[in-house]
Amino acid sequence: MKNIMDYTLDKLEDKLININEKKFRARQIFNWLYINKIYDFDKMNNLSKETIKTLKDNFKNDFIKIEKKQEGKDTFKYLFKLIDDSHIETVLMKHNYGNSICISSQVGCNMGCSFCESGKLKKLRNLEVYEMVQQVLLIEEDLDIRINSIVIMGIGEPFDNYDNVMDFIKIVNSDHGLKIGARHITVSTCGLIPGIKKFSDENLQVNLALSLHAPNDTLRSTIMKINNAYKINDLLDAVKEYIKKTNRRVTIEYVMLRDINDKDEHALELAKILKGLNVYVNLIPFNEVENNIYKKSSKERVLRFLDVLKKHKINVTIRREFGGEVDAACGQLRGRVK
Ligand code: SAH
Repeated sequence: MKNIMDYTLDKLEDKLININEKKFRARQIFNWLYINKIYDFDKMNNLSKETIKTLKDNFKNDFIKIEKKQEGKDTFKYLFKLIDDSHIETVLMKHNYGNSICISSQVGCNMGCSFCESGKLKKLRNLEVYEMVQQVLLIEEDLDIRINSIVIMGIGEPFDNYDNVMDFIKIVNSDHGLKIGARHITVSTCGLIPGIKKFSDENLQVNLALSLHAPNDTLRSTIMKINNAYKINDLLDAVKEYIKKTNRRVTIEYVMLRDINDKDEHALELAKILKGLNVYVNLIPFNEVENNIYKKSSKERVLRFLDVLKKHKINVTIRREFGGEVDAACGQLRGRVK
């Protein structure tokens, strides 16, 4: 039996018809859950006793739990305990233009990028749709805020849990759901080409970010295992195809690792491979983690790298550093209990 929050509106309508309920009940239920934030079937007072019983017989409505919350400057990191006792982390960032949440899509991660903490815990399983939806709902409730934007950049590789991530997006984006605009949702992938291809055909206005991190295969393969499966050339072809189909600009993420990928020659090579593409590069200051061989590039180095890209007419920005004080920054999430 699935959780009621596993269903997109369309799928809930189908399911209700299947169990001899009226299709329009799906909208009523969505309203209760996502607009009125009433989760208890018994309190949905426009439903008959019989319908409520049918719902209870056919859907679970259990919740993941906030196990721990850490507060930094403008950042909150949450450790969630799932029903099966596994753990994930979620980060909430307060910006002057609104609140954004960084959600996890898997328990652990199998992509094995050498600089990232999230991969240290091997993937145990994919998150269910409701486990992603509830990261949003529970943090909104805990902080008494409305979340304005979502990045799927926490623990896990979203395109390795493709279908659930798409349903999650449909629920939070739905006019009968949380109404978070597609343009305020970003999916970040380490570069699973089949995922990028499918995503190109979804007809969604959701943003795509690609974790590139290196301008050539030799270097990329040493820091990102996934590069052995999908080479940069093919990856950029998939990105081109995506841009052609969706007319949307793609974000290229590039984490700045001292003496590894941060030299002028790397910037030049990067400018060359991205030339003419509708992309913008987001330089990510590396967040140092214990027992990790990588170091952060100096400020001067990052600025110089930025300059080289700009000179070659590549759109580029430096990502603001967030959450370092509570280990809530990019690459520091792993769902550890202690
Ligand atoms: N699997 C997806 C989403 C999760 S990672 C992906 O790879 O895109 C989110 C971003 O943080 C990725 O670009 C990742 O490479 C980057 N990242 C990982 N470890 C980091 C660290 N220690 N410092 C800064 N960024 C890091």
